[in-house]
This record gives sequence, structure tokens and C-alpha cells, in this order.
Amino acid sequence: MTTHTQDTEDALAEVRAVYADLVQRPVHRDCVLRTGCCRFQSTGLTPQLTKGEAMLAARAVRAAGRTRLAPSSDGACPLLLRDTGRCLIYADRPFGCRTHFCAAAGGPYARREVLDLIRRLEAVDRRLGGDGPRAIEAAVADALAVSGASGSPRR
Ligand code: SF4
Repeated sequence: MTTHTQDTEDALAEVRAVYADLVQRPVHRDCVLRTGCCRFQSTGLTPQLTKGEAMLAARAVRAAGRTRLAPSSDGACPLLLRDTGRCLIYADRPFGCRTHFCAAAGGPYARREVLDLIRRLEAVDRRLGGDGPRAIEAAVADALAVSGASGSPRR
């Protein structure tokens, strides 16, 4: 494994650590795969992903046997499975999908409650050469294209 690859793996491990740390926050959440927040046409809000989040999501998409995102004609997230109503990458869903604005699940986290975690994701973004958060579809599509070209390892 090259140093570059190890650096990337370390950075992605930090993203996973952020996700794990979020679970420990003493804020009641009740996300039970409601998927209301996945329907951007209804919410008017689209998750914005840092580069590390997008790379993890892309790996999960590949692990699910896909190499590209299905086109979304209804304005919902391209990772929302229309036949089951579930997220294709739920275990690896981005930070915004975990701190979502779904009222039924408890509403959004206050920024102050997760600001330290946001800063950590931003630090990973810089470390990976990212240029800040991007809308989920473009961010994951680009990460898929790069990982497909490089043969990036799956976890
Ligand atoms: S990544 Fe998954 S949880 Fe997040 S908006 Fe898309 S379908 Fe919903």
C-alpha cells in the first residue's frame, strides 16, 4: 500500500469516526428509515458532502454492485431505492443525512451541537484536496468516476 493510499485510508477512517462520534451525542433522534429527508423536491434541501463523505458514499455504492448513480427524474436522492423506499448506502450515508431536518425524527441538530464534527469533516476535505461541500449527486458521481478510474480499494 502506497503512502498516498494509506493517507487516503486514514482520512476516510476519520470520516467514519465522525459518524460514530455523532451517535454518541446526547440528542434524541428517531430516524427509522423514514426517507422523508431523501425527497429533495419536497424538502427543498439537498445534502452537501465534503470529499471524504463523497468517497465513502461512492465506495458503498460500488459495494452495492453499482458503478454509477441512477438518474433521478423525480427530484429525490439518486441513492433512494424507489422499489423499497430505502437508502442504498444507509450505513454509509453522509453527515447531512444523519443530522437531518426531518421533523418526525426530531428536527435538525443545532449547528453548535455538531460544529466540532463539521470542522473535522472540513479538515478531512482539505486533506483530500477537496474544495468544500458539494451537492450529493455531483459529489458522489465524481467520486465514483475517480474510484472507477483508479481501482480504489473497497473497505
Ligand atoms: S444518501 Fe441515503 S439517507 Fe441520504 S438523502 Fe440519499 S437516500 Fe436519503
